[in-house]
Amino acid sequence: MDSMYYIKKYNEYRKNVLNMQASENVLSPNAKMALSSDMASRYSLKIENYNAYGGTLYFDEILKLLEYNVKKLFNAGFSESRPLSGHIASEISLLSIINNNKNVAAVSEEDGGYPGYTNSNLERVIGFRTYKIPYKNFSIDYDELEKSVKTNKIGTVILGQSMFIKSYDMKRIHEIAEKYNSGVVYDGSHVMGLIAGNAFQTDALKYSDILFGSTHKTFFGPQGGIILTDNDEIYDKIVNNTIFKTMDNINLSRVAALSVSVEEMLKYGDKYAKNVVKNTGELIKALNELKFKLLDGSEISETHQILLDEKFLSEKGYSFLTFSEEMERNKIIIDRFGRIGTQEITRYNINDMNEIAYIINDTYNKLNINNEINSMIDRKELKYW
Ligand SMILES: *Cc1c(COP(=O)(O)O)cnc(C)c1O
Repeated sequence: MDSMYYIKKYNEYRKNVLNMQASENVLSPNAKMALSSDMASRYSLKIENYNAYGGTLYFDEILKLLEYNVKKLFNAGFSESRPLSGHIASEISLLSIINNNKNVAAVSEEDGGYPGYTNSNLERVIGFRTYKIPYKNFSIDYDELEKSVKTNKIGTVILGQSMFIKSYDMKRIHEIAEKYNSGVVYDGSHVMGLIAGNAFQTDALKYSDILFGSTHKTFFGPQGGIILTDNDEIYDKIVNNTIFKTMDNINLSRVAALSVSVEEMLKYGDKYAKNVVKNTGELIKALNELKFKLLDGSEISETHQILLDEKFLSEKGYSFLTFSEEMERNKIIIDRFGRIGTQEITRYNINDMNEIAYIINDTYNKLNINNEINSMIDRKELKYW
């Protein structure tokens, strides 16, 4: 057996399942073509007004087009679309905003925050100290946040979460930050596609210094990160913290695939994002009618995410892990943290959430759903490209 054997197996397997993992999406054939183009093994390095590598004249045009379109899509003054991942976009952004004040506030992991900001991960790499953003019932406690910013002398507030179902009161956060002279960054990794499509937190950039995130969760792109800001001084720092600081080679084929997906977003982002959020609401409602219990209070989800309740799963002997395994036996892929995402099936033009709810509930009740799921997989048809 060689690698090609497993690659073919892999592709065949993935064609015959539904992916409902909250942090993933599917690439269009055009984006895939870009990703496997000759650019995959090339370099590019812009120095002042020339490229240090020959052969890059068409790539230079793609990168220019990409930055132009990203700014248009997010209505942003400045963009940096080269980061290799959301995590690296975050690293670059934090390096560009954290100054002498090393006190940072972020949503904790148990409240659904990104582990990178706590557990001495980026804290140790960049050298800051994280305080918990006061958080309850899927919402920031703004009065408590104000107290914390004041007493802990917070220099930077990091918004955004990995378990992310509810938007923030950005105006209120902006007021707090102004009052105590703190910076605000918005990690939109999970929701970049929904923000681009104007279906969630449309004021994320308006009330923050930097909006950044992954390009491949609800966004249509290959794995990567983008950074947006309206502040030219911050932008200069961002550019400065990119090449030779947090990365060198930018993976040209990835940049080209991202450029394709940004064009798709410009054309279809609004329709797609609205459909994702609508499908989330309909799936939650349908599960509710079947008495399939979700995480308490999470029924309000405004994003692509649906959160499972491990206590309810345990009534049938499941944990997040074993329920995910049982779902996979029934050809639906979800993660093992209790999240379900509607974004990829929406892109595959699957909008019958009653049927999906039945499949999830019947899996829970250990019933045979072979025919239902197979017929649904047969109906997968990639849209928005
Ligand atoms: C996924 C995620 C990241 C990391 O993004 P990658 O593209 O996987 O590097 C950062 N922050 C949040 C909130 C995330 O959900």
